[in-house]
Formats: sequence, C-alpha cells, structure tokens
Amino acid sequence: MSELEDTYKHKGLRKQLVLGIAKKGIKDKSVLHAINKIPRHFFFDKIFDVHAYEDKAFPIDAGQTISQPYTVAFQTQLLQIKPGDQILEIGTGSGYQACVLVEMGAKVYTIEYQKKLYQKAIRFLPKIGYQPHMYQGDGSKGLPRFAPYDGIIVTAGAPTVPEELIQQLKVGGRLVIPVGNDDIQSMVLIQKVDENKIKKKQFDHFSFVPLRGVKGWKE
Ligand code: SAM
Repeated sequence: MSELEDTYKHKGLRKQLVLGIAKKGIKDKSVLHAINKIPRHFFFDKIFDVHAYEDKAFPIDAGQTISQPYTVAFQTQLLQIKPGDQILEIGTGSGYQACVLVEMGAKVYTIEYQKKLYQKAIRFLPKIGYQPHMYQGDGSKGLPRFAPYDGIIVTAGAPTVPEELIQQLKVGGRLVIPVGNDDIQSMVLIQKVDENKIKKKQFDHFSFVPLRGVKGWKE
C-alpha cells in the first residue's frame, strides 16, 4: 500500500472526526469541509496512522506537535475566512493547518522557526497538492514583507500579543493567538476595527507548544 493512500477506512474515520468536531460546536461549513477533505494521516508516520483521526494533538519532529483537529477548527473558524483572503500563519509545524487554509481558498503565507520542520513541509506539501508560501525564521514579529493581512493565526502559545501582528492586519482583519503561560493559554481574538482601535475577545483554555523568538518565550 502506498504511503499516501487515502482508503475508505481513512475517509470513514475522517467523517467521524468531522462529526465529532461539529458536535463540539464548530459550525463553519467551509472549515468542516476542509477537514473532511484533507487526509490528516498523510502528516503522520505510517505506524501512527491510526492516531490521525483521534481528536488529539500528536508529536511531530523537533519536539513540536500537529495541533488537535478541534483546535485547528476553532482557530480557523475565528478567522472567518473568505476565498481570496490573505492569511499569515505563524508556526507551520507539519503544514496541516496551512493546508486547511489553502483548501478554504485563502492565499496563505506560513512561517516556521525550526529549520527541520520547514524543510520537511516545503518538500512534502506540494506532493499532496498544497502550495502555501513557506518561510523559515522567527515569525513572532510577523512577516511584514507581505502585510497587510486579512487574518493572522498563531499556532504556538505567546506570553503577550505582539503589537507588530496588530500592525500587520488590514482594517477589518482578525488575529487569533493563544496567550498565557507555557502550559495553558486563552485563545485571544483581536479584530482591527480601524487603524487605532481594536476589539478583543477571549475563549476557553488551550494548550500549545511555546512561541519562540524575540516576542516569544526564551529557549
Ligand atoms: N500549525 C501546525 C500544524 O498544523 O502542524 C502546528 C504547529 S505547532 C503546535 C507550533 C509550531 O510553531 C511549531 O512547529 C514551532 O516550531 C513553531 N514556532 C514556535 N515559535 C515560532 C516562531 N517564533 N516563528 C515561527 N514558528 C514558530
């Protein structure tokens, strides 16, 4: 069996996962559609294939994780993506979240701190048909070169909201970022109402690996 085979069994497990996420409160149909479409097991070593459709985070290389599917869905839903939106993701990791954003019709820029993960993603994602714009480096101050963005999603836990990320949003844009200590964070949604005004909401508790870099946690 080829490593990149998407069998009826995988498709069935994926459907169950999507139903479970919907039950937990995810309503955005385009988010659910993207999760139903992308074979999450492609991002796992074949021996761990069965874990791909559990609603859990899972270890990847370099001590990092592929986020829990519900968390991916929750963050993505908060972005309220429309096709053509320009989105920045900070923390490419496995590349799964970036694929969800591409699948929803966004123009995606994604930046990863760990060279090993960046190199893996840049080789692998085109093989499965996804081509976000991928960069390696410290994304804790965003990626000003391509700003402004309709949405910015941070997939690692930050100590505070970096001001640079708000600056890189368009008016009307949304920033979704977990903020807290290095164990537990609140999901913070920031909407840029106009150049000098933001609206802020905070949700539940989540647990991410730490954001590194100048606006993140020390190594
Ligand atoms: N979105 C990823 C996925 O779909 O697999 C999950 C990412 S994992 C929870 C968080 C990622 O953020 C890790 O790969 C980590 O190396 C990366 N990261 C941490 N600090 C970063 C920074 N300052 N800039 C860019 N990436 C960073």
